[in-house]
Amino acid sequence: MRRSGKIGWFLHDVKNRGITAWLISGVLLLFYVLLYFTEELQPLVKLLGFDKKPFEGKWTLYGLLYTFAIVTGGGWMLYKYRHNKYQIVRTIVVMFVQTTLAFSVPIWLNFIDQPAYYFSYLWPLKIEYFYPSSILWMPIPFIVYSILGSLILVPVLGIFFGKRWYCSWVCGCGGLANTFGEPWRHLTSKSEASWKFEKYSIHITLVFSILTTALVVISYGVGAKYPEFVETTKTVQKTYGLLVSSILSGVVGVGLYPIGGTRIWCRNFCPMAAFLGLIQKFGRFRITVKENMCISCGMCTKYCEMGIDVRAYAQRNQSFVRASCVGCGLCAEVCPRGVLRLENSSEPHPQELTMNALIHESWKQKPHRKAL
Ligand code: SF4
Ligand code: SF4
Ligand code: SF4
Repeated sequence: MRRSGKIGWFLHDVKNRGITAWLISGVLLLFYVLLYFTEELQPLVKLLGFDKKPFEGKWTLYGLLYTFAIVTGGGWMLYKYRHNKYQIVRTIVVMFVQTTLAFSVPIWLNFIDQPAYYFSYLWPLKIEYFYPSSILWMPIPFIVYSILGSLILVPVLGIFFGKRWYCSWVCGCGGLANTFGEPWRHLTSKSEASWKFEKYSIHITLVFSILTTALVVISYGVGAKYPEFVETTKTVQKTYGLLVSSILSGVVGVGLYPIGGTRIWCRNFCPMAAFLGLIQKFGRFRITVKENMCISCGMCTKYCEMGIDVRAYAQRNQSFVRASCVGCGLCAEVCPRGVLRLENSSEPHPQELTMNALIHESWKQKPHRKAL
């Protein structure tokens, strides 16, 4: 319910694409442009002493701000969902992973003269961890972790727990979305066009990341003989870095939180999301629906950060597995009737609704317009 008074107006404005939301988005966009494409943050970096070992210049500044956002947003999440064990444990884990594996451990590694390595990021999200020029000079345990982590740990855990083990518990991008980004989760587009776009865009990025990695590996092996091939590969590598790793994941992915919701990058472009989504379709994770309990209020659909029309399944008493679901558990949390449950089960997969059934039965009904 919307609070009265100036604070009520302000909160509503921030959460519902008001002028304040646009201003916040402008500041975030500007920050990411300065971070990725200029050295304008250098004076601040120097002032904080981050230009010296064991720090890594502007990336340590970014890491500090990112961690601060996750920890403060996480504190709010812990308070808001204090009655929900799943959300409490998940938020604590997210905060812990960010403050240790994604921030302090790389600094500590630098401090003891080791390369800064981010254990919470794996290929294909961290594409350079399969680039020979980046990984081969790392200590052997890091190389082994990179390869086994991406090719064995990610798919095996994906089979047992779905995408959620990584996207809602470990990955910093999901961590930021589910803490700092919480006020904007309901803004994710629920339109049919967004759904169709996501199905293509996410797999195109995955193919792009696999091709780029393959080219870089081949070029590393045969580069001495084929200089033109090396030049072409460098162009592809730079294009991927600029378009996917900088513009789509940072500038657009976080900069547009207050306008387009918190999972624009995760939903439409993250190659790891596509990889894990394919595994999730055949794994054990699913959302089960209690029969004949749904009152069609639409809260689950409204607060799904991945734009999934959960209500359409609930209305049909249909348990489901969707490749895009990150297992955040908020649909189950906001449901006033306790209809939904996140489960890992070896039972046969529920039969999926066809896209047409979903579109015709529910996408045209607007979920409740209650503000967060
Ligand atoms: S979709 Fe990608 S970026 Fe988002 S939480 Fe999952 S792995 Fe991280
Ligand atoms: S369906 Fe539920 S658990 Fe999955 S992403 Fe949407 S809100 Fe989260
Ligand atoms: S929130 Fe619960 S009751 Fe409301 S539409 Fe979703 S499943 Fe049905």
